[in-house]
Amino acid sequence: MCGILGYCAPKWDPGLAKFFGLQGFNLQHRGQENFGCTYSNGKKFNHFKDRGLVSQVFTKERRDEFNATEPRIAIGQTRYATAGGTDAISAQPHWMTLLDGFYSNATNGDLPLLQKEIDDLEARGSVMLSRNDGEVVLKKILYGARDNGGDLLAGIKYLMETTPGAYSGCLMTLETLYIYRDPYGFRPLYYGKWRDATIFASESCAFNERDAKIQREVRPGEVIVVDLSGRREHHQVVEPKTPSKKCIFEPIYFGRPDSKVFNDDKEIGHFRVESGRQLFREHPVEGAAVIPVPDSGRFAAVGYAHEGGLPVRELFIRNPYIPRTFQIAGQATREDLVRLKFTIMVSLLREYKKFVIVDDSLVRSTTMRILVSMIREAATKAGIDSDDIEFHIRIASPPIKGCCYYGIDTPVSKELIAANQSVEKITKAIGASSLSYLTLEGLDTVAQDFDEPDNFCHACFTGVYPTEYQTRER
Ligand code: SF4
Repeated sequence: MCGILGYCAPKWDPGLAKFFGLQGFNLQHRGQENFGCTYSNGKKFNHFKDRGLVSQVFTKERRDEFNATEPRIAIGQTRYATAGGTDAISAQPHWMTLLDGFYSNATNGDLPLLQKEIDDLEARGSVMLSRNDGEVVLKKILYGARDNGGDLLAGIKYLMETTPGAYSGCLMTLETLYIYRDPYGFRPLYYGKWRDATIFASESCAFNERDAKIQREVRPGEVIVVDLSGRREHHQVVEPKTPSKKCIFEPIYFGRPDSKVFNDDKEIGHFRVESGRQLFREHPVEGAAVIPVPDSGRFAAVGYAHEGGLPVRELFIRNPYIPRTFQIAGQATREDLVRLKFTIMVSLLREYKKFVIVDDSLVRSTTMRILVSMIREAATKAGIDSDDIEFHIRIASPPIKGCCYYGIDTPVSKELIAANQSVEKITKAIGASSLSYLTLEGLDTVAQDFDEPDNFCHACFTGVYPTEYQTRER
């Protein structure tokens, strides 16, 4: 999963550099492994990409260079590696200088036939620098353009007609910006205005600045072309797929709660609160204190508590300087980090004898299992008998049964707890009193407030994938 961002402006405005950096910070939750940027002032381009957060990669030296160039087009990407390593070569944007010009591209999403696409490109003589989707997308666009007299719009159309998968992307030359979204619309993408500039970003939270205004979502199959003269054109280059397949995990887990994605009116936080309400209606626990798993379960816990008339209490205190465990490779590291990340408010264990612990999803169950054992350890240390306390686990999404081929790095099935064990076994392994998930029907009830449920991808819950894919199962 990644975040893309950028702008195209008819004239240089010194405020653009600050705005661009702010966009990157506001999309940091979508990817923390790499940041990269390409920019142009119409005559010359520059670029950088590296491992690390926006604050680590967009250094003072690079900001000074950026400002000195006075770029009127810039694209950037915060990356969470799902294809290719975390080295700078695999990071995005990718760029190429050909005889007829300079091109740079960044995407958000994955290609489910990535290896086949790479094999096809290599068979055509392409030299791949990375195994990353964004490089495949750039090369396919350029092949499509070459076969159509250099027309990049035709190149993007060729990409969309021949490449199943998730790609909300941006492509730039020295003088023109192209913003595009795959025909299924798996990943969110918004555009808008900042003063005279056209701006775009994966989520609307990147427009949280006084002079920025959201226009709307980029439509599936649409390309928006903007150039340095201020001209902006909209092209529906391929018909959007019906139904679309917007990733339901964006509102469940990935997007920032203050973002609007897939809906121009309501923030994701509303979706999560409603999921919690629905979860209580389906799986009530009366007379309990509701405990959010910070921060992922917070909104659903509030919804659960409101619906049940229950108190919300903070049992887990999270150290904000430890990164999201889901994005750390390696089981041992993940377990260590959960213990480092959370501490327990022991006094609550004297106040209540029944708790409902709410989280947005259960992937491997590592975090939940360790949290419950940490509570029991903390209770024992404080002389409290934890066998007298009930811990009910409520999950605000259905059991995850399959991996994602469209840009979220869910593990392969053998690592997904719900794909391998019954609810009873998982409950026992976690050490909980009960465990219940939101049903798929319940999720659809919540989703319909945002869009028709059919317009969402549910493949990791159902195993029914909307496109061809090459299995990652080993
Ligand atoms: Fe989202 Fe799951 Fe579909 Fe992947 S498979 S796009 S995570 S709903």
